[in-house]
Amino acid sequence: MSYFINVILPIPLEKLFTYSISEAEADFLQPGMRVAVPFGKSKIYTALVHEVHQTPPAVYDAKEIHQILDEIPLVTATQLKHWFWIAEYYMCSVGEVFRSAVPNAFLLESETLILKNKNFNADENELLDDEFLVFEALEHQSILRVQEISAILEKKNILPVLNRLLDKNIIILKEEVYEQYKPKMVRYVRMGKAYLSEEKLEELLTTLTRAPKQSQVVLTLFQLQATTKKPIKVSELEVASKSSAAIIKTLIDKAILEEYFVQTDRVVYVEDGDNESLKSLNEYQEEALKDIRIGFDKKLPTLLHGVTSSGKTEVYVKLIEECIRSNKQALYLLPEIALTTQLISRLQEYFGEKVAVYHSKYSVQERVEVWNNVLANKAKAQIVIGARSALFMPFADLGLVIIDEEHESSFKQYDPAPRYHARDTAIVLGKLHKAKILLGSATPSVESYYNAQSGKYGYASILRRFGNVLMPDIELVDIKELTRKKRMKGHFSERLLEEIKETLENGEQVILFQNRRGYAPIMECTTCGHSPQCPNCDVSLTYHQHKKQLRCHYCSYNIAVPLACEACGSATLDTKGFGTEQVEQELNNLFPDVKVGRMDLDTTRGKYGYEKIITAFEQQEIDILVGTQMLTKGLDFRNVNLVGIMNADTLLNFPDFRAHERSYQLLTQVSGRAGRTKKRGKVIIQSYNPYHQILKQVSTGDYEGMFKEQLYERQQYKYPPINRIIKITFKHKDYNKLNEAAEWFTKGLRNAFGIHVLGPEFPPVSRIRNQYLKNVLIKIPNGQALGKTKNSIKRIEKSFNAISQYASVRVIYNVDYI
Ligand code: ADP
Ligand code: ZN
Ligand code: ZN
Repeated sequence: MSYFINVILPIPLEKLFTYSISEAEADFLQPGMRVAVPFGKSKIYTALVHEVHQTPPAVYDAKEIHQILDEIPLVTATQLKHWFWIAEYYMCSVGEVFRSAVPNAFLLESETLILKNKNFNADENELLDDEFLVFEALEHQSILRVQEISAILEKKNILPVLNRLLDKNIIILKEEVYEQYKPKMVRYVRMGKAYLSEEKLEELLTTLTRAPKQSQVVLTLFQLQATTKKPIKVSELEVASKSSAAIIKTLIDKAILEEYFVQTDRVVYVEDGDNESLKSLNEYQEEALKDIRIGFDKKLPTLLHGVTSSGKTEVYVKLIEECIRSNKQALYLLPEIALTTQLISRLQEYFGEKVAVYHSKYSVQERVEVWNNVLANKAKAQIVIGARSALFMPFADLGLVIIDEEHESSFKQYDPAPRYHARDTAIVLGKLHKAKILLGSATPSVESYYNAQSGKYGYASILRRFGNVLMPDIELVDIKELTRKKRMKGHFSERLLEEIKETLENGEQVILFQNRRGYAPIMECTTCGHSPQCPNCDVSLTYHQHKKQLRCHYCSYNIAVPLACEACGSATLDTKGFGTEQVEQELNNLFPDVKVGRMDLDTTRGKYGYEKIITAFEQQEIDILVGTQMLTKGLDFRNVNLVGIMNADTLLNFPDFRAHERSYQLLTQVSGRAGRTKKRGKVIIQSYNPYHQILKQVSTGDYEGMFKEQLYERQQYKYPPINRIIKITFKHKDYNKLNEAAEWFTKGLRNAFGIHVLGPEFPPVSRIRNQYLKNVLIKIPNGQALGKTKNSIKRIEKSFNAISQYASVRVIYNVDYI
């Protein structure tokens, strides 16, 4: 008898590969275990067993595996099913899914680069012989390929040694240029040194009689210190003394109080006694919960449509708690984890160390640890929270899937394959587990709302903010008139300036939104009209004043700002348009005494960038925060009372069928940051076109109106949710070849699908990093079998690939493109 396994290799192969194994190995191996296998002339890969069987491959001789890497399956049967669904639906290979689904540490292969972990002092005596040899080799040469190590050890089977060294933290992989997650600094407060004695304190309280709020804070701190004997957090003092962060800050500035910081680890939750008990829901939340249960009882994914600050998170928390009580696992997906430390700490306060965060920025060990805990269904990782890749965790018994901010486009993976939509992929995962599935948003995607209306999803809503705080008052300001009459101060209307002044005078904070970073998107010569372009991409270079650079936002190409026009030589360079940097600078001139912060890709790129800015804003060290759409994502700042949209027009004019839906969502979400907890907030939207339908809908909170209008248009032009769309992108460095190839392919598509094919067309930015791009859209009517359509496309691709001059043209599928 001979035995074989089919394995998934982590590369884009259409078919699974077959290897031969011994009878003993056949007895031992199970689907989901890893094996090291030879591939091609000299490569070694980590492959995943899919099936053990006895049928030899028809067209090649099966090679033997090098060895087995796992004792138990690392990947579950449900995951494998899910991966095959992803590969088929999103038109990629299951190997590509494998590669992106597991932590890199699981995928050692011949090309992997290995380094010594400098942050770890290994005790040489604890190492086994082969481990020591690797360790020593890395002392002499700082970086080694797996195959080089194989030569040093004079054996092929070295992946187990390396896996052991990884487990022991002694080596790391080169791809791991992640940012180590940094411990969070918690801010505490105590009495200033000068006021420690009782006399001094009494003296102080007498001088503070004219400042009753301040003396209240001092007294409260004194009491807290006497009763709890624990360090006092600034936030605790704020609540206990019923005061504000601003008052506490004043006292710190006067050295009456002293602030100090202590590190707490944000990954490993530090138990601080008992968990906070759940909040009881208000009547609207209860009502929504009832409707959610109706959806769940019908086994439907259910949409929770709750306005900003309606308390959706507390509803999620209730469901999570139930899920935990029935001993099942919960998955909580968010669009962007880096921005949601607020939410994570909220969940940790309720559920303690049951909350595990899975994030690509975590170190390999942390990711592997979460993976193993989830696989073993440990209490430690019963609740997994993360951005899209968290859905790849090896859930043993998933009971609940929550997809928060389900409308966010960042749920769609753009590059590389699999180009999956995390919302839809998580729904499929939830169904495989028969889990409850909840989507939440204040501004649902047209797709999800459509599904709720047509009965495919359940539906629940909360139309009021928690505590009955009114929705912000939104005012539209026509800047076309004002610009013409030269009544703008920089990019600020008088109305916006007035409101900023008033807000600051009330000790409240301001958020200003401009969806462009840098100083100005275009630099232009006023003499000849020339504007500097990126040599590698088809875009203008963005002017960054702070760095005195022109930069390409697509490929990072940059040059120093030229002194004169490179075309005509005149020193008449001017800028067009404006970005966050310019807003920040104008604010600094208009309000010299006010602290302005900026949150965009440029200021958050460095380590812990987000954290620093968010914390500084939370603690009111920043009065006005200027930022791009990063500001929109679920942040809960208590003291923000004014939101200003500098210019709504660039959003509205974006050339995409989703532009209006997006604008509605983005503007509503940013507006939702205003006046969340106490009084009604104010929003000023500046626009050249304030009568635009979408702006009206935003200002009146008319989601329904926006939805109807968008749906009508999508019906007219056959866009989702009425039709499905597959986008095919062709990519090549040779312009003519790309054109020819795209034409050839599209002809085939037209023969198969007729009028449902659009293009080929160049996208707005038609060259990136010296590669030309051309797109074709295929609209597939609902009801037409998707599988058949994809097979036809694949057939056309086969004939296409057989034409030698097109072989180097890349064909990229994007199913349900966003
Ligand atoms: P959303 O996610 O809908 O924008 P949040 O869940 O962040 O809203 O809730 C907004 C604010 O209201 C938060 O500060 C939250 O703590 C508070 N809140 C919501 N529900 C309750 C409740 N049932 N009891 C007490 N506070 C609540
Ligand atoms: Zn010029
Ligand atoms: Zn470029």
